[in-house]
Amino acid sequence: MAQILLVEDDAEIRRALIRALTERGHVMSSTATAMEGLKYVLNSTFDIVVLDLGLPDVDGRDALRMLRSVSRIPIIIATARDDESVIVDALDHGADDYLIKPFGPAQLEARIRAVLRRAGEDSDETPALVVGELRIDSVSREAALSGVPLDLTPREFDVLSYLAARAGTVVTRRELLVEVWRLPGGGADKTVDVHLSWLRRKLGESANQPCYLHTVRGVGVKLIAPR
Ligand code: CA
Repeated sequence: MAQILLVEDDAEIRRALIRALTERGHVMSSTATAMEGLKYVLNSTFDIVVLDLGLPDVDGRDALRMLRSVSRIPIIIATARDDESVIVDALDHGADDYLIKPFGPAQLEARIRAVLRRAGEDSDETPALVVGELRIDSVSREAALSGVPLDLTPREFDVLSYLAARAGTVVTRRELLVEVWRLPGGGADKTVDVHLSWLRRKLGESANQPCYLHTVRGVGVKLIAPR
C-alpha cells in the first residue's frame, strides 16, 4: 500500500487511475495543477508522486524542478511525449522513472513498486561513505568536503556517491548511464561528462588538476582519496 499523489489534468485519466489504484489498496490524492501538487507535497506526506508533464499552469519541466527543490519524494513522470530529449531531461532533473502515455494501471503500479523498492534499498545503505576528506551520507543525502557541505544537485549527489562507493575502481560512462541515470539503453556520454565537470568544480578541482575525480582516458572515471 502506498500513499500516492497523482498530478494529472486529464479528468478521464485521473478517474481511471484513481479507481484502479484504489482497488489495488493504495491511498490516492489527486490534483490537476502543478501549483496545487506542490502545495500537497509541502503539506502532507506521500510515498510517491505521479506527475503529468503536460499541465495547464506550469511547464512540466519546471513543475518537476519545483517539486525536487522542496522534496526528495520519489517522482514518476507520466508523459504523452516520447522524444528522448524530454525523457533524458526529466531523469536528469530528478525524476525516478517515467511512463509514456497511454499506459495501464498495472504498469504504473509495477513502476511504483520498483521505485519504492529502490528508495527503500537506498535508505538501507551504510549511512556514511568516507573517502579522504569527502563524507557522503546516503540517508540524509548530504555530502561534505573537509567538513564543508557541498551544494549538489540530486544527480550530482548520485554520481558522487556511486563513485565513492567504488572508490579506487574505474567506472565507465556507460555504467553511470545505466546505474545512475537508469538508461539501460545507454545515453550520451556528454551528459556524464557535463555532470562530472560540474561535480569537479564543486569539489574545487579540474580535469587537468584532479584531486578526487580522475579521468581514465578512454575508459571512464575513478574517485580516489588524494595522497
Ligand atoms: Ca496533461
